[in-house]
Amino acid sequence: MSNNTNIDKEKVLADLGQMVQIYSSDRPSKDSILKDYSSFYHLNVACAKIFLESYQLYGLFCNPQEVQELVNKYYARAYKKIVQTCKENKETILNTFKNYSDLLKDLDFSFLECDRDFETYSEKDFKDIIYAYYSTYGNKYYCLAKKYFDENRIQMRYEEIEKKYIDLLLTNCKSEEERKEILDIQSSGSYKGYYLYLIGLESGYILSKFNGYNTLSAHSIVHELGHAVDAETFLFPQQKKISRVSDILMEMPSTTFEMGFIDFLRDNGLDEYGADIISSERYEVLNDIYDCILPVYEQNKFELDEDGNVKIDDEEYEFRDDIIYGLGGYFAVCLQEIRRQNPKEFLKIFNNILTMRAESSLEELINMTGISYEDFVSAKFIRPRLEEEKKLLSKRFNV
Ligand SMILES: [Zn+2]
Repeated sequence: MSNNTNIDKEKVLADLGQMVQIYSSDRPSKDSILKDYSSFYHLNVACAKIFLESYQLYGLFCNPQEVQELVNKYYARAYKKIVQTCKENKETILNTFKNYSDLLKDLDFSFLECDRDFETYSEKDFKDIIYAYYSTYGNKYYCLAKKYFDENRIQMRYEEIEKKYIDLLLTNCKSEEERKEILDIQSSGSYKGYYLYLIGLESGYILSKFNGYNTLSAHSIVHELGHAVDAETFLFPQQKKISRVSDILMEMPSTTFEMGFIDFLRDNGLDEYGADIISSERYEVLNDIYDCILPVYEQNKFELDEDGNVKIDDEEYEFRDDIIYGLGGYFAVCLQEIRRQNPKEFLKIFNNILTMRAESSLEELINMTGISYEDFVSAKFIRPRLEEEKKLLSKRFNV
């Protein structure tokens, strides 16, 4: 594995150092703490896991307790906003996902097993594929994708490195309690990829659990780069610091780039089978949302804990995740269909939604796509696409 897909330790430590300067200066303002404390915290944790080096949080602030309380309050407020949006848009959200599942049932849509090896590439080809894909959106997005590789802002096989670190910690454990604590850390935060938003520095880092250069890891990096595009083009310049926690369409831009990448692979004859599997998985994820969110609405269980989860029948359930991945994913499927029909028009619509989403209602955002509310919610707009997709999968996989 080349250094280019490993995060540069010096750079991360320099970034952390810069943030420490901001936050340790006399008494940081509430605004400056909120602006980047969570990014600092996450980068610091990632840094500890990758490099075994981190800042001791408690030495950084005049009153760490106060800072933690402030951040907790901020998260609680952000989740409240999500809950409020979900309640106000009950009909739209429930109907959209119900109609989507019904559509798949109606089409007798079968999902593929993800049990094959994906096409592998040389490091150069891997990057060139991602660059070529992002350049289909224009030079600006191509440059941004290239910047993340050139500046070593991407860490692959993150999970493997983390596992080594955890193992090292476990062998050095002094008590059973300590051991339990470490195993807890390990079980939390299992993700395929992660984008670290650093608002104060107007940039970020990407962590991906995948190892090696193949279609699946490229797809994961493309998704995370989508967050980078969103952050560096829209969120940071517009100073929308709150929106990334309370924004129910947070996963919309990244998933739209992800959907576009599937088409790009197919159109260019690059690992078409791999593209089919990724595509099938995307449609499958959306298919489960209705069954998951329905009990939350029915039982009115909208008390989100600090991770955005709720308890349903004594089981912890990731409500916020389902809402942001669900709505983001559904918008992405619709937007990619618009892109297929009219790429120029798509770019206008996409930019418009990204710019306006903090101020707009869900209904206004649907209207901005140019799809009628009725066609969006009834899944009528994407029906031809799903029919096409089913034909394609039946042809290649006999399903
Ligand atoms: Zn994402």
